Amino acid sequence: MLIGPPASGKGTVGALLSEKLHLPIFSVGELLRDIPENSIFYKPLHDSMDKGELAPDSIAAGVIRDELKSDKYQNGYILDGWMRDITQKDSFDPNVDYAVFIKVSPETSIKRISGRRFCLKDDFSCNIYTLPPQDPNHCDKCGGELVQRDDDREDVAKKRLDLFEKETLPVVEYYKNQGNLIEVGGEGTPGEVSNLILTALNNRDSN
Ligand SMILES: [Zn+2]
Repeated sequence: MLIGPPASGKGTVGALLSEKLHLPIFSVGELLRDIPENSIFYKPLHDSMDKGELAPDSIAAGVIRDELKSDKYQNGYILDGWMRDITQKDSFDPNVDYAVFIKVSPETSIKRISGRRFCLKDDFSCNIYTLPPQDPNHCDKCGGELVQRDDDREDVAKKRLDLFEKETLPVVEYYKNQGNLIEVGGEGTPGEVSNLILTALNNRDSN
């Protein structure tokens, strides 16, 4: 299970781990977004999602259990997007071998988010702090205007981070107490972070 604050690089790191460990990614967010219309969960899910609400845990848990019956998960998987808060365990407890917490400082998280810019013309993305374009207002590729999405504004980013700290950090504490938390620094590149995780997993397995 991967846990990380907003902009921890969890998605990219997860993809690298999936390649190196030969395990599929189990992304709860994607699963809920892509639920087929003929699924019995489609209507109850969309009733709440279309209102802009989060999917109720009990329904999401049903979708997860159903999906986990698929053969491709029988040798294990990398779980992303479940246990955003500790109460989700009551609806579905994934019984993971390890919870991996990718730790980045609040400053890094906010900087990575609030620095994101998108080109209005071709949707090219860059980051004025971490991947700076030559001209902070214009796209390197086509010269189009670079804009910030509303979701990426610093005040919105701070709210998302507050929510993570309030609701998800207790999940980190829970796995720490269970003795199966792996904590790695997430300030490096996704390649570096995934290598830290692989090393930590190897150390655990050989003990
Ligand atoms: Zn452009």
